[in-house]
Amino acid sequence: MKPETLALRSTHPTDNNASAVVAPIYLSTTFERNQNYELPHGFLYSRAGNPNRQQLEHALATLEGGTEAMAFASGQAATMSFFQALNPGDHVLVPDDAYYGTPALLQEVFTRWGLTFSKIDSTDPGKIEAAIRPETKVLWLETPSNPLVKVADLTVTAALAKTYGLLTVCDNTWATPLIQRPLDLGCDVVMHSTTKYLSGHSDVLGGALIFKESNELSGRIRQIQTLGGAVASPFDCWLTSRGIKTLAVRIKQQSANAAQLATFLETHAAVERVHYPGLPSHAGYEIAQKQMKLPGAMLSVQVKGGAAEAIQCMQKLQLFTRATSLGGVESLIEHRASVEGPDSLTPANLLRISVGLEHIDDLLNDLTQALG
Ligand SMILES: *Cc1c(COP(=O)(O)O)cnc(C)c1O
Repeated sequence: MKPETLALRSTHPTDNNASAVVAPIYLSTTFERNQNYELPHGFLYSRAGNPNRQQLEHALATLEGGTEAMAFASGQAATMSFFQALNPGDHVLVPDDAYYGTPALLQEVFTRWGLTFSKIDSTDPGKIEAAIRPETKVLWLETPSNPLVKVADLTVTAALAKTYGLLTVCDNTWATPLIQRPLDLGCDVVMHSTTKYLSGHSDVLGGALIFKESNELSGRIRQIQTLGGAVASPFDCWLTSRGIKTLAVRIKQQSANAAQLATFLETHAAVERVHYPGLPSHAGYEIAQKQMKLPGAMLSVQVKGGAAEAIQCMQKLQLFTRATSLGGVESLIEHRASVEGPDSLTPANLLRISVGLEHIDDLLNDLTQALG
């Protein structure tokens, strides 16, 4: 089946008593044993497993081409559970432009538990190789990246990691499995903040890990999930599954809108630079053409001038909601340097846009008036 069909069929209910076309929400925290004291459906207690979570995990594994998935209460809970499966002394390579929470978890939580990490430029395989140490265990990737929308070559970097015996994890939040499937390109694990495109409506937090193979690592993380309890609730799983049903049409339209906005902005007199992997001027364009089916719906724009000019443009916009996060049906805009604080390396004149499903003409008109 094609991904569009899989997104629908993998979220279709398989087990219910009423022939419902949409899955019921199983709020029950506990599950009855039969007279022989067996668990007829395999569910014991909701922290260990729940029908809504099982269905979402099945859908995520199917869409990413993995054997197994685990759904967590947030993207950060998924990342945290992955790092908890490592051993003290292990070393992790993390992109210098990763989602801020990933290195923040390593720095604030896991260095105290004996993990070490180095930041790398994930678009430069030579620099990745130079940063590998005897104790390096994991190459963490995130492509396209935040906020410069840089593209790392998944095939090349995952192959490099394999020659050194490293695990490769790809945070696929910005692309989604409808755009790229890291497990097909050699990665071992995919991480998602399902809060973003997969659920798609800015109304539910969630995260996931998807595994190419079921092995000791996936078993260990399943154990951490069950014992640690950072699981997604039945309703959150249900909402995320509902979002997945329309992922294909949303991502195609949002990506088409983003491509038009990027082209418009690139030639605008008030714009210094546009970062979007669908533009031939983008450094990652060739790799994006090779590994992404669409360039996605995230772009960044550097307005001519400094922070003041960028913020002024943002303030004039009517249809781009000033809020953090991304991946919902509504367009959002954010001045990243303000959000990231004084240590930010993000250019002061940069605005990050999550392009939504509004009509392209309305979005273009709004940007035209705001850029003046
Ligand atoms: C939002 C985000 C996360 C964190 O996910 P939460 O659901 O907010 O915990 C991780 N990685 C990327 C790329 C994100 O955009």
